[in-house]
Amino acid sequence: MKYQHIFFDLDHTLWDFDRNSKAALSDVYYEFDLRQFQIASPQHFQEVYGPINERMWVQYRLGEIDAETVKIGRFRESLKRFGVVDEDLVRAAKSFYLNQLPLKGYLMPNTMEALRYLQAKYKLHVVTNGFRAVTERKIAHSDIGAFFESTLSAEEVGVLKPNRAVFDRALSMNNATIENSLFVGDNLIADVQGAQGVGMDQVFFNPHQKAHNETPTFEIKDMKEMVELF
Ligand SMILES: [Mg+2]
Repeated sequence: MKYQHIFFDLDHTLWDFDRNSKAALSDVYYEFDLRQFQIASPQHFQEVYGPINERMWVQYRLGEIDAETVKIGRFRESLKRFGVVDEDLVRAAKSFYLNQLPLKGYLMPNTMEALRYLQAKYKLHVVTNGFRAVTERKIAHSDIGAFFESTLSAEEVGVLKPNRAVFDRALSMNNATIENSLFVGDNLIADVQGAQGVGMDQVFFNPHQKAHNETPTFEIKDMKEMVELF
């Protein structure tokens, strides 16, 4: 195998963002007793918060809004949908969620097994669009830190994947080359198109088997396939 370096996206690829986020939102629900606002359950809050958060992340990736607007705006908008306009609550919920989230350690299925296998053959790295401080805690609390030689948060580069500057930095800081590197991620734009943009081979991690028109070098639906392929 020509690869020496494998770069992994973190959220939704290794770290089970949806499951961890649900757990953290549930903490928010109980911490601030959202039932008092006729929000029936943590699930009910999540159903409203989820699409709002996704839309704001798209806007953030497009450079239309900044990180702080995402962090606070998703709570402001979600609570407003339930008729709650309370800026103190918005700020408190935002901070509490951001503290709780990286303490959650659920990984995508078979991630530990795949990393254990790959670590023996390749140098492994994380390249994430997530915030630096949050990323470090996610990795620590999910017990995967020892697998990685490096972690790069796009925040440190000043632009986000798919911007090529992120991929260039990841390569240069590890003395890796485009030819001996592989990028693994769940996002067709940020990860697959981003790696394609610098000419790096890619693995599209597609656990829900979404239909698409891209042509990634490899496509998998379960991390255990990394063991079979590489
Ligand atoms: Mg991702």
